[in-house]
Amino acid sequence: MELFDVAIVGGGPAGSVCAAFCAGTGLQTLVLEREKFPREKVCGDCLNPSCWPVLQRLNLAQRVRDLPHSKLDSVEFIAIGGRNVIVDLPSGDDCELSVKRSLFDALLLKHARELGAHVREETTVTVLVHNENWKIETDRGENFSARILVGADGRNSTVARLCNLLPRPARERVALQAHVPLPQNFGRRVVLQFLQEGYSGQAPVNETELNLCLVGTPPTISRLRRWAEDHFEIIADQSWRTITPLTRSPVPCAHGNVLFIGDAARVVEPFTGEGIYYAMQSGELAAIAIAKIIHGKDPQSALRQFARACAEMYRGRLWINRLARMAVLSPRIASVLVRFAPVSSVAMRLLTARIISRE
Ligand SMILES: Cc1cc2nc3c(=O)[nH]c(=O)nc-3n(C[C@H](O)[C@H](O)[C@H](O)COP(=O)(O)OP(=O)(O)OC[C@H]3O[C@@H](n4cnc5c(N)ncnc54)[C@H](O)[C@@H]3O)c2cc1C
Repeated sequence: MELFDVAIVGGGPAGSVCAAFCAGTGLQTLVLEREKFPREKVCGDCLNPSCWPVLQRLNLAQRVRDLPHSKLDSVEFIAIGGRNVIVDLPSGDDCELSVKRSLFDALLLKHARELGAHVREETTVTVLVHNENWKIETDRGENFSARILVGADGRNSTVARLCNLLPRPARERVALQAHVPLPQNFGRRVVLQFLQEGYSGQAPVNETELNLCLVGTPPTISRLRRWAEDHFEIIADQSWRTITPLTRSPVPCAHGNVLFIGDAARVVEPFTGEGIYYAMQSGELAAIAIAKIIHGKDPQSALRQFARACAEMYRGRLWINRLARMAVLSPRIASVLVRFAPVSSVAMRLLTARIISRE
């Protein structure tokens, strides 16, 4: 059996970016991905401007701009009852844009392949055994062996579960997502709309389609869907993707010689649209640590540096996550704040600036 330097479970943004950086430095890199790409995902499809530096280091920024996308000029917060606050987003090369995950994720995974990573799609990891190295079994009955393992398999991480690290999910909320026909004159805005039953995120992803996300609780989600069907005149047999949990405790990002990145390590509140950035950035940080270990540096020290770099990435930002969660769990209170213009427009402008900048 071939011994890989690193096996990465999950080929989303976290896993693909980690694989690209590992393969780019000459490591024998394996990616095991459950789905066949291209595939859609429950996501708002918005790329926070902080993603650009990572994409530039991957030499992918222009290829992302070449994908069908929408440039987003502004974010509009809408309170229950309809009062709104509009905040401008940056323009130019550092703009926020929306691109379908089927296109974005497929490009990242293709790039990892181009740099030499071995990618196995439609391959679900089912068993992990650790002796000197990791032995990985899949649902196809195949076995792989690797010196280092990376869990990049999302919020319901199998790797974390098989390592007995997956926290009990708080199944308090559920998300639905669909691409629906773009309403006329929707404009180039992201809409974050508070509703009695939860909230909705809306963003155009190209000239003809709107990404529509709904987040509610199990008892309210069907009412939210009916609201969306009426509001956007959606056909009755529209298919919706779904995901839960929206919140869970973090998993340690380094545990023995398994590293966790992206949603597998920490699930952030979708409302702020930062998850893809954290996934890509943590993928890059993991690759730096893995290269050090494979090239003979002290593994404990490399893992400690990785853990510190991950903590630094979130430092001073988790309050935004908590604030966003409070707002979406209490849409009525959040709506009162949005209605309280002009104070709210200053607050929303400051908050948006903080979310889209890493300075
Ligand atoms: C409603 C909603 C809206 C959101 N909107 C935004 C937004 O607009 N912008 C933003 O930046 N973020 C947004 N996010 C967050 C974002 O979607 C995630 O943070 C991001 O997808 C995390 O990337 P990842 O690579 O860590 O995990 P994922 O993208 O979840 O990728 C994990 C991969 O692992 C694979 N996998 C899982 N189990 C196995 C297994 N056992 N074996 C092999 N493969 C496996 C899966 O098939 C998947 O491809 C949103 C989230 C939600 C829920």
